[in-house]
Amino acid sequence: MSGMNFSGWALNADARVKVGKDLGGKGLGGKENYSDCCVVEYVWLDAHNVPRCKTKTVTHRPASVEDLPVWNFDGSSTEQAPGGNSEILLVPRALFRDPFRGGDNMMVMSECVTPDMKPAIGNSRAACAEIMNKYASSEPWFGVEQEYTLMAPTKVGEVSKIPAGFNTDGSEPAPQGPYYCGAGDGCAIGRGVADKHYACCIYAGVKIAGINAEVMPGQWEFQVGPARGLEVGDHLHMARYIMLRVCEMQRVQVTIEPKPREGDWNGAGLHTNFSTVEMRAPGGLAVIEKVCKAFGNLAAEHIKEYGEGNEKRLTGQHETCSINEFKYGVADRGASIRIPRETAMTGCGYMEDRRPAANADPYRVAARMMRTTGECLFG
Ligand code: ADP
Ligand code: MN
Ligand code: MN
Ligand code: MN
Repeated sequence: MSGMNFSGWALNADARVKVGKDLGGKGLGGKENYSDCCVVEYVWLDAHNVPRCKTKTVTHRPASVEDLPVWNFDGSSTEQAPGGNSEILLVPRALFRDPFRGGDNMMVMSECVTPDMKPAIGNSRAACAEIMNKYASSEPWFGVEQEYTLMAPTKVGEVSKIPAGFNTDGSEPAPQGPYYCGAGDGCAIGRGVADKHYACCIYAGVKIAGINAEVMPGQWEFQVGPARGLEVGDHLHMARYIMLRVCEMQRVQVTIEPKPREGDWNGAGLHTNFSTVEMRAPGGLAVIEKVCKAFGNLAAEHIKEYGEGNEKRLTGQHETCSINEFKYGVADRGASIRIPRETAMTGCGYMEDRRPAANADPYRVAARMMRTTGECLFG
C-alpha cells in the first residue's frame, strides 16, 4: 500500500492492482475481497450536453478503452430514453487518470447509444466521428479557448445569477479593465478554482494548453489543444466535467452561458482555432483564405452549431462581430474569423473562428468546421 490521500483513496499505483481487461461481475464474484481492484468514473453527456457520471469497481486497471466494459444507465432519469425502455448504453471512448481519487483509478469519457447501437439523444460524437473519418487525410487540429464564469453559490437546484466576482451586496464592481490577465485580491477572483482545475487536467491527461483571467471579474479561460479531430470533443468535455468537480469542492458554481451578466460586461466564448495539414504547410495561407470564404457562404449554418443564446453575445460589441455579419481578417478581434499575425507573416498556420459560444458542443463545432473545409477543398 502506498498511503492514502484526503479522501481515502490510495495515493500511488498499488502493485496488487493488475493492468488489463476488466473481468466484470464474474471476476468480482470469485474474490475474497476487492482490495486489489480500482475504480473507473464513467462520464457521459446528457440531453442538454451536461456531463453526468457514475462509478464502477473493476478487476484491472484499464490500459485502453478496450479493457473496459460497455455499461449502462437509466436514460429515463436524464431525458434520454422513455421509461418503458430506459436503458442507455455507455461505450467507453477516451481514458483519463482520475485526479480526484489518484492511484490506479481512472475516468472515461463515454458515448451514449441505444440498445440497437444507434446514437442516443444528446450524442453528437457519432456524427463528428463520421466527418473526421471522411477527412482524416487532412489531419485536422483544433484548439479551443473555453471561457467560463464562476458564480456565487445559491439554493439547492437553483442556477446562480450572480457572478462570483460581484459584490455580495449586489452592487456592480468597478468597470472592466484590470481583471483581464490580472493579479491580486479583488481583481483575479477565483484563481484557486482555475489553478486547481489546471492541475487536475494535467494529471488526468487532458490536453490543456493554458489558462488566463478574463475581462469580467470572476471570468476565466482555459485552452484545450491542439487536439486531433474528435479528440477535441473528448478532451474538452472531460475538462468541463473536471471543472464541475473542482467547483463542488470550492463551493462555487460555474456557468458556460454566453452572456451570464447583462450590461457592459463581456460574454463568454469558445474561440475555436483550426488547421489542417494543407494550412500548416508552406502556401497554407491561400488555403486558409479559401476556407474563410467558404465559411462566409455558410455563416448561418455554422451559427446553428455554435451554441444557444449566442445572439446575446455576438452583438458587435465586446470584441465580437455581429451575429448578422461575417468578416475575416488578420489580427482582427472584431472579425468572425481572425487570421493570427504570425500565420499571415509566415504564410501558413491556422485560423481562429471567434463565433462559437462558451456553451457550444465541441463535437458539433468541429464537425461543422471540418465539413465545410472538406467540401471546399475536396468537393
Ligand atoms: P488567443 O490569442 O486567441 O487568446 P489562445 O492562446 O488562448 O489564443 O489559444 C490558442 C489555441 O490555439 C491553443 O489552444 C493552441 O493550442 C491552439 N493552436 C495553436 N496552434 C494551432 C494550430 N496550428 N491548429 C489548431 N490550433 C492551434
Ligand atoms: Mn485565449
Ligand atoms: Mn478569451
Ligand atoms: Mn481567442
